[in-house]
Order: sequence, then structure tokens, then C-alpha cells
Amino acid sequence: MKELLKEQITQHIEELSKYTATLGNGTTRLSYSQEDLKARNYLKGQMEASGLTVREDGFGNIFGKLEGTIEGAPSVLLGSHFDSVPNGGDYDGPAGVVAALEVAHLFQKEGLKPKYPLEVVALVEEEGSRFGGGLMGSRGMTGLLSEEEFKGLQDKDGVSTVEAMKEIGLDPTLPKRREPGTIKSFLELHIEQGPILEEKNIPIGVVEAIVGLTQYQVTVTGQAGHAGTTPMDRRTDALLAASKIISRLPELATEEGNGTVLTVGRMNVYPNGANVIPDKVVFTVDIRSGKEEHVQNVIKNMERTLEEHNDNGIEIEAEQMLYIQPKALNQGIRSLLKEMSSELDTPYCSINSGAGHDAMVFSDVTDVGMLFIPSKAGLSHCPEEWSDARHIAQAVQIFYEAAKKLTEVQS
Ligand SMILES: [Zn+2]
Repeated sequence: MKELLKEQITQHIEELSKYTATLGNGTTRLSYSQEDLKARNYLKGQMEASGLTVREDGFGNIFGKLEGTIEGAPSVLLGSHFDSVPNGGDYDGPAGVVAALEVAHLFQKEGLKPKYPLEVVALVEEEGSRFGGGLMGSRGMTGLLSEEEFKGLQDKDGVSTVEAMKEIGLDPTLPKRREPGTIKSFLELHIEQGPILEEKNIPIGVVEAIVGLTQYQVTVTGQAGHAGTTPMDRRTDALLAASKIISRLPELATEEGNGTVLTVGRMNVYPNGANVIPDKVVFTVDIRSGKEEHVQNVIKNMERTLEEHNDNGIEIEAEQMLYIQPKALNQGIRSLLKEMSSELDTPYCSINSGAGHDAMVFSDVTDVGMLFIPSKAGLSHCPEEWSDARHIAQAVQIFYEAAKKLTEVQS
């Protein structure tokens, strides 16, 4: 069964990878594009072939439902997103959708009759590559994105969400909001997008928490001057001060440990002339950790470091632009996934997710479980992104066993 499963997974991934606007240069599948439409039709066809009842909501999220025997019971949802970043890979998103499809396929093959419905979901616009913001499909269906906000979103060419949906024949007037009472739990498989599982040679990561993150914008102000005529001891060089600060920041995360990470990813220098001493530098600091106290500690230490450099005419201001609390995933489902892995003799380890996922959004309204599989060389969001279909198959088997428990399959 394993070989067959692996083959089917490979086929789905290969098929979906053809629906790209940049053939030969990675997957580019923006929401509500022609590529979206083709992938959508393929997924709907596969859902139907597995005996699921297919419908779409007013965002274009796709649902394939296997009814349960209890009338009106909430569904066990399984899935991920099927949009991509520009020139991304074939696995970020689709791996999770394909895994969900194959779980439903196994239910059909075994003729299982669950008490609670099993629902495969393929979500739109997780990456935010077309309309910005990200997680649009999951935020929308859980009510975190208002109708006004949704309608106000436009792509870079000024095309609105509603116009774009109509362009590929989707109906934005269909019901959007999914009442929390209609979802019993949500399971998502995703590629790790980092190097940990591959380095440890472990096929499955059971996600404990999705990291919290904060982003600061730090502005360092000095005094501009002529690069040739201002003596070295008379300078208030904003870039020099910023460099000193930035060189000290990474160790704050290292000292904190527990997988805490810190990144300075953007820096603007003013006036940005080769022969002018910089008078202003603006840079960002992104801090992430699975535990809120680690994020807080690094913030405190960063503020102290900034304070230490706030002298000799240099002024430093730090503004918090974003703060998201870490989300611990459901304890019961985490245990269930580990138990099923053990029963299947599949090695696993606990892991934190350093990236945001639809699962993070669902964790506010239902019990959520998430599995990671290794990413080759830790690469993601690029054409080289690759994961082993064998690992996806292992995740499918864990989810299949877990879904049987969660949907209370009658034996
Ligand atoms: Zn993703």
C-alpha cells in the first residue's frame, strides 16, 4: 500500500506543478488566476473521485465532504493552501492538500463510515502573493477578515478580489463565514521549510507551537556631513552606530536559546550618497520564538542595547510594528499524532513552526494538529523546493489513523 500511496502522491504533485505561470522556473500560482482555475478543477475532480461532495465558499476555498452518520455534526477538517509565491516550489501548500486528498481516498477505499464528517479543504491566498496580508482564505472563513476588508483588497494592477474571482467563474456571493461550531478539529501537513528534520534524519515533526513574532523598526539619527571635510572625531555617523548595534543583536537570540531567532532583514540609509556621512538609518528587527517569555526577554535586552548606543549625538527610536503571540497547538491532538506515529513505527520529533500557517488561524476557533515533513536542504519558496513523497505518505498514514479516531469511525 505504501508504494501505491507514494505513487499517487507523486502524481498529484506533478499534476499540480503544471499549473504555473512560470513553467520551467518554479511554481507561480496566484489566487484567482488561470493557474488557480486549472489546479482548482483538478482538485475538485480528485475530491469527487474519492466520493466527496464538493462545494466552494465565497472566497473560493474548496471543500470536499464525506458525510458523517450524526446529523449536523461538526467536521474534522484536513488540508492546506494551493496558492504559491512567485517562482516558488511545488510543495508549499500542495503537499498538505494532497495528503488530505489521500486520507479521504483511504476512507473511501476502506468503505469507512465516520460519525463526524471528514472534510478536505484547499485554501486560497495563504501566501498573500496577490492581495497581500496572507492567510486570506482561513482568516476569511473564520471571520477574522470582514466583508469590507475582503472587498477592499486589490492586486498590484488594481484588480479587486471580487473582480478577480468573477474572472475565473467563482461566485463571491456564496456563504463565506464558517461558524466555529461546524469544525471539530483541523489537521494540516506542511513542509518544514527549514533544515532541522533533514539534519536529524527524522521523517515527521509534530508541531508543538507556531512561533510568536514581533517586528520593530529602529531609527538611528545622526548628523550628515561631507565625507571629505569632516574629521573622523567630529562625526555623528548614523550608519556606523547602526552597524555597531546590528552586530550585537544576533547574540541576544543565541543567549536566549530554545530556538529563538532574530533577523535584521531590511535597512535604509539616508541620504544614501557615497560621499555623504549618513544622518539617518532605518532598519527592522524580527524576533521569533515558541515561548512568549523568550520573545519578551530578547525585546528587553534589545532595548538595553539600543539605550547603550543612545549617546554622542546619536538618537535611537524603536517602534514595535507587529506583535503576534505564540500559538501552542492542541495538546490532545499532539499526543494523538505522536501515538499514531509510534504505532506505525514512524520516527518523529517535536518541532516549532517558525512560519505562520493556516493552522495558526484555525487554532483560535478549533483544536488544531500539524505535521511537518523534511524540506531538502531546508529550501522553500524557490524552484528547488523538494520533499520526499515517501514522507508525505508517512504523514498520510498518521493522519488517516488520527482522522479515524477524531471522526469516530464505526467499526
Ligand atoms: Zn505554506
